[in-house]
Amino acid sequence: TNVFFRPVEKINAVIESYPKGIAGFKRYLEILDTEPDVADSPGAIEATGLRGDIRYQGVTFGYEEGRSILRNLDLSIRAGETVAFVGPSGAGKTTICSLLPRFYDVNEGSITIDGIDIRQMTLASLRRQIGIVQQDVFLFSGTIRENIAYGKLDADLEEIWEAARRARLDDVIRNLPEGMDTVIGERGVKLSGGQKQRLAIARMFLKNPPILILDEATSALDTETELAIQQSLAELSQGRTTLVVAHRLTTIKNADRIVVVNEDGVAEQGRHQELIAAGGIYHRLHQAQFGAVYQ
Ligand code: ATP
Repeated sequence: TNVFFRPVEKINAVIESYPKGIAGFKRYLEILDTEPDVADSPGAIEATGLRGDIRYQGVTFGYEEGRSILRNLDLSIRAGETVAFVGPSGAGKTTICSLLPRFYDVNEGSITIDGIDIRQMTLASLRRQIGIVQQDVFLFSGTIRENIAYGKLDADLEEIWEAARRARLDDVIRNLPEGMDTVIGERGVKLSGGQKQRLAIARMFLKNPPILILDEATSALDTETELAIQQSLAELSQGRTTLVVAHRLTTIKNADRIVVVNEDGVAEQGRHQELIAAGGIYHRLHQAQFGAVYQ
């Protein structure tokens, strides 16, 4: 799950479309001293208005020479579909997702969105089409307003409140000493884990990308917070192609499709009830992870 946390890539994932200068952000930029492995191809095109039809074709990928994590992976995801990736730790669920914004390039095969190879798109425009919500939310020292607006720097206050409302963060903000202008981060008000996640969701409502990648938290939040986050994530994924590295049973059950990944690649696919009825790997995983009471 750690692929998204590496600072360089994390910044690349969001920085592309944004002018510099937002409070606290330039300092963070200075960490960005490593050349990324991936770059724009000559003649790369601007990807705009993608529908989000995703296809992995014969994808082989490994982080190191001679050790492939994915071998000849084929996977099609329809525009608007929500796919939950499940499987044992280390099977490659996060890796599959991290290839889409090109944190790494495939060794063989291709990934297309709406039929266009992602290597033919500029990195910046590709990444504008993909929103990532991960466990470890990146906050900078600045106001809560600035932190939410990080999803869309030219957003006006009304849009920011609307995004906060949809992320169920508006009540939290109203209760802060200076509302939207409250400074958060290292030297300001500390947000709880659940509040940070809602802030990340608010950013995504602003960014409004056709494709979403959700790296679901493994750490438990209290039930009420959990429910609020589940609900706003469900709303966020409406009408977007959504790839979830899933750990929560509700997410898995509500997905349009569950893709079971193991060392051999995609082992099974289907809806919860279908896979339970099939009595295969998912059935066993499910019993091991969530116990016998699963209906
Ligand atoms: P989890 O459920 O634990 O998050 P996962 O199915 O998402 O696991 P990945 O994170 O995709 O699995 O990891 C697949 C394999 O690739 C693992 O063996 C992991 O150690 C390795 N791996 C992941 N990221 C890197 C990296 N940046 N460099 C080298 N190896 C990596």
